[in-house]
Amino acid sequence: MGLEQNIPEGVLTASLDKLVNWGRQNSTWPLLFGLACCAIEMIAVGTARHDIARYGSELFRASPRQADLMIVSGRVSNKMAPVIKRIYDQMSAPKWVIAMGICASAGGPFNNYAIIQGVDKLIPVDVYVPGCPPRPESLLYALDKLREKQGKESIRDAANQGRRERVESLETIAPLG
Ligand code: SF4
Repeated sequence: MGLEQNIPEGVLTASLDKLVNWGRQNSTWPLLFGLACCAIEMIAVGTARHDIARYGSELFRASPRQADLMIVSGRVSNKMAPVIKRIYDQMSAPKWVIAMGICASAGGPFNNYAIIQGVDKLIPVDVYVPGCPPRPESLLYALDKLREKQGKESIRDAANQGRRERVESLETIAPLG
């Protein structure tokens, strides 16, 4: 005899992981910031034609405390690198990162001393989007891939990730000054 036989009709049971992941998959809030030309395509996903609200992600938050997705939309200069790292550290765990476009993913055409050759040199990246610039549909596809990833996560992993990142950010506080 299982638990299901003792609960009234109309009540559903699920694992806590599934419930939490369902919530996270449908309310991932991106951070309100853009770095270069790719940001224009990111802004376009909020229009009626592309409608990022279908994913529950239309709330671009101006505070890193209220955002759990960083979309790195554009090239990352050495000057911006410490700012991006600090904002990422200020976001609450669990948090995810999409590297949007070839510049954010690998430096793109800017193979020079001023540009970081991929934002994954600074922060962990969950999904890379190719293209220069990627179309809004590509970003929405990246959100689909992120949702797949979120669906496989466990709240236990997220807690461990938070602990690990706290230790890492303590180690990077000194150079960021
Ligand atoms: S990938 Fe292309 S569109 Fe995007 S920031 Fe780089 S140069 Fe601009």
